[in-house]
Amino acid sequence: MFESLQERLGSILNGLTGRGALSEADVSAALREVRRALLEADVALEVVRSFTDKVREKAVGAAVLKSIKPGQMVVKIVHDELVAMLGEEGVAIDLNAPAPVVLMMVGLQGSGKTTTSAKIARRLTERQGKKVLMASLDTRRPAAQEQLRQLGEQVKVATLPIVAGQSPVDIARRAVQAGKLGGHDVVILDTAGRTHIDEPLMVEMADIKKMSAPHEILLVADSLTGQDAVNLAKSFDERVGITGLVLTRMDGDGRGGAALSMRAVTGKPIKLIGTGEKMDALEEFYPKRIADRILG
Ligand code: GDP
Repeated sequence: MFESLQERLGSILNGLTGRGALSEADVSAALREVRRALLEADVALEVVRSFTDKVREKAVGAAVLKSIKPGQMVVKIVHDELVAMLGEEGVAIDLNAPAPVVLMMVGLQGSGKTTTSAKIARRLTERQGKKVLMASLDTRRPAAQEQLRQLGEQVKVATLPIVAGQSPVDIARRAVQAGKLGGHDVVILDTAGRTHIDEPLMVEMADIKKMSAPHEILLVADSLTGQDAVNLAKSFDERVGITGLVLTRMDGDGRGGAALSMRAVTGKPIKLIGTGEKMDALEEFYPKRIADRILG
């Protein structure tokens, strides 16, 4: 991820640092290039615009241009704005609510919801000693509930027994009740996805939310999907109200646009990133590290 962006921005910014004096026109020309590089990396237009506006505002001042190393100062401004765009550092899943704390996982089919549910369950169990219960609310794909059950076995986390013929809301209700009765600290609801957003999906998510009163609603999004992921995040946030993002497939060779846009577009923190198929391939999100990587 980010390799081509890294290359492009690296050469644009090297062009600035390699020079002694800078004029306003030099900075504007470089920013046009930065803008093009971000758009090519599939960063959302509104995000690119606000990013370059902010950098321009800070970089074009006399103090920067007349400083001893104006190029370095501009690079630092770009770096800091990148970090600001990516959001705050390491925002953990919030478990600060009466048990069982319900985490509702939402997203499109294939985004990595089930895998991520099991990864989170494993992490909460192993690192925080939490007693976790997982439940698959996917009644549309017959194999989905079985998939979560198997992952539960693998990570040694309980899953709600499968009962045929129940609706997603029925399963959510049963999961919360089982969580209470079983003394679980956390209940993870792995909801059903669709191939695209549609009205029935949003209605189903709203019904599950109403029934289970989740403390966190985490949107799991595939970081390889670019602009679509941004529209997805907007829709889910407007219709269901998300509390955070999990970006999967950050180990892939995507252009990084989704990762760079989603926090800025929704204002919701990226809480975790998926970096592989294995159950331990889940990491905290560190904007500074990503900005460092992109700017080399
Ligand atoms: P769901 O339909 O949203 O529940 O998606 P799944 O959890 O079934 O994931 C779909 C596929 O993506 C599976 O093969 C997962 O192993 C894979 N996957 C999930 N997260 C990641 C990730 O972070 N990196 C990679 N490389 N693969 C992932």
